[in-house]
Amino acid sequence: MSAAEAFVTLATTDPYCMGATVVASSLRRHGTTRSIVVMVTTNISEEWRHTLEEVFDEVIVVDEMDSEDHLRLSWLGRPELGITFTKIHCWTLTQYSKCVFLDADTLVLCNVDELFDRDELSAAPDPGWPDCFNSGVFVFRPSLQTHDRLLDHALQHGSFDGGDQGLLNSFFSSWSVEDIHKHLPFIYNLSATSVYSYLPAFHQFGHNAKIVHFLGPAKPWSSGTSHSHTMEGFVSLWWKEYLSQTSSLPVTQ
Ligand code: UDP
Ligand code: MN
Repeated sequence: MSAAEAFVTLATTDPYCMGATVVASSLRRHGTTRSIVVMVTTNISEEWRHTLEEVFDEVIVVDEMDSEDHLRLSWLGRPELGITFTKIHCWTLTQYSKCVFLDADTLVLCNVDELFDRDELSAAPDPGWPDCFNSGVFVFRPSLQTHDRLLDHALQHGSFDGGDQGLLNSFFSSWSVEDIHKHLPFIYNLSATSVYSYLPAFHQFGHNAKIVHFLGPAKPWSSGTSHSHTMEGFVSLWWKEYLSQTSSLPVTQ
């Protein structure tokens, strides 16, 4: 069965490609038995396209989708995130029976293949509003029917944050109350924001982290951004993973 299961990420720009390669290499470092797939749009460079073909089992070109919801994206302070609607294409990967989506700004710290024991839609709480799940790490079942229903939902209701997370949370709206097994432990999607707001918990549980998520505008690969002191260690680890791959990977700021 495991051949029909995959980790999936997404990169629509060259800088996010840097992140995607770290997702793949950190999954391999910890011995995943599943396929590792990246969805890309046509605007990434040829150079990156070739690199991704070497790093991933499958590179899938998808159409770019943008919510164009400038008002809600401005509330979020992230005008660039309309493009994350492109993520919804992951439901079309029906060559796989079950997948785990990982944002390109995540770093895997140990084997997390046990995530495939979970069902759709499993995800960890969002640190900013824990009754919503964070859409940086989630378990799903590819299905063209679900894909169509998600598009319908987007057309009819839009997304309350202008990005994929608002859409997915209103579509899978029973997540917060329905089935505790669909609540991934927070260590599968540990983000910096929460480190700021609950430092003692980070000291208590942070060493158990399985997946770190560099959520927010400061990505490990972006220059000139500062990270919280506690996340700095993870940022160095990210660079170590990035540079360990090959000496010839491009660095795109
Ligand atoms: N993404 C992308 N290009 C963009 C913005 C986002 O490919 O210009 C993809 C990428 O996989 C990224 C995900 O969408 O990890 C979600 O965006 P981001 O991680 O920046 O959002 P955050 O986790 O900070 O809310
Ligand atoms: Mn992210």
